[in-house]
Amino acid sequence: MDTTQSSVGSSTRPGLTHDVDLKAGTCSCEATIRVCRHVRVALIRDYKARTLRMIERYNHELLNEDERLELREAIIRR
Ligand SMILES: [Zn+2]
Repeated sequence: MDTTQSSVGSSTRPGLTHDVDLKAGTCSCEATIRVCRHVRVALIRDYKARTLRMIERYNHELLNEDERLELREAIIRR
């Protein structure tokens, strides 16, 4: 799953979404600042997804099933 591309809902205009491409560093909104709210939301989503993938890859042998689920839940809730 590529989490560097994200569709983020507008907070001021319900139903409208903006397309963020983290690799290109772009957002389809008209904000004049470089790191708009949509890019920040996309960065957090990407960070969480990467962290979860990392945990699933490396901790598989270190933790038992219950510990893995607990850790996963704790990250999702943050
Ligand atoms: Zn934006």
